[in-house]
Amino acid sequence: MRDFQYVRPKNLDEALEQGQGARRRFVAGGTLLVDLLRLDVERPESLVDLNGVLSSDITWDAHGLTIGAGARNTELAYHDKVMAEMPVLSEALLSGASPQLRNMASVGGNLLQRTRCSYFRDVGVDACNKRKPGSGCAAREGYSRMHAVLGVSEHCIAAHPSDMCVALLALDAVVRTRHRSGARELALGDLHILPGDHPELETQLKPGEIVTEVFVPSSERARRSAYVKSRDRASYAFALASAAVALELEGPQIKSARIALGGVGTKPWRALEAEAALQGKPATRESFEAAARLTMNGARATSHNAFKLELAPRVVVAALTAAGSKS
Ligand code: SF4
Repeated sequence: MRDFQYVRPKNLDEALEQGQGARRRFVAGGTLLVDLLRLDVERPESLVDLNGVLSSDITWDAHGLTIGAGARNTELAYHDKVMAEMPVLSEALLSGASPQLRNMASVGGNLLQRTRCSYFRDVGVDACNKRKPGSGCAAREGYSRMHAVLGVSEHCIAAHPSDMCVALLALDAVVRTRHRSGARELALGDLHILPGDHPELETQLKPGEIVTEVFVPSSERARRSAYVKSRDRASYAFALASAAVALELEGPQIKSARIALGGVGTKPWRALEAEAALQGKPATRESFEAAARLTMNGARATSHNAFKLELAPRVVVAALTAAGSKS
């Protein structure tokens, strides 16, 4: 690991000052960043510690849930209102990583976690546009079983790794940030960006901008929500395909639906066409299957990950069935 400076700001304003500069990184739980430092993928000149600066409060009111970006994943997963009012979020969090990692990982860090593409993490591989812009993409000609099929570009096919983000997308969450130039809110669906010609750019955040809170509106739909994740082993594995869904029912009919996918997109993926197809339909397996088939429209698979085109719709049907069975 290379030398770097470690900075402990006393408050958010100090953190915003100390976080200016292309080679400065913010750290909270450190569960990914320390990995990347050890692997020599990240080479910051300084780390700005946000512990004690970010709120870790999780509060519930008539409008919904406000989550301090410093809250740990475990605290959020077991929060009584999250489990009762938006179970998809709890289920997604508990399907990710291991208990030890969830105890350390912050909500802000989870939002901004970077891909697990093995070529990205291996500095012995030269061709990785995300790590080294303009160098090529080893995964396109290499082994790509875990990679994305939606939102891919000729420059990068890395899958977004987060489970939590997929659930937050299905819940219409909003991300609140601070920068020296002011505060702003971003819909979660707008936070992450497609790789396009610049896979090294992963979010809309400006250098030195800090995620401070996430807001999740309460809704009828959120209460009838579920997360299903298909993976190679029962724990501590990233999704091959996952689905976060939320259903609003009116009698036997679906009034509105949210469907978000993980493990298949270069960013947490909203299946808008499938959502529209469910509106006004009966909450039956036939409706779920018809909608699920639409989720892979526009997908571009490799020979290694073409199985996801079959797997992901099945995961969507399983999640819709699970959500539909909730009262
Ligand atoms: Fe790098 Fe993306 Fe290609 Fe992986 S898929 S090697 S992260 S450019």
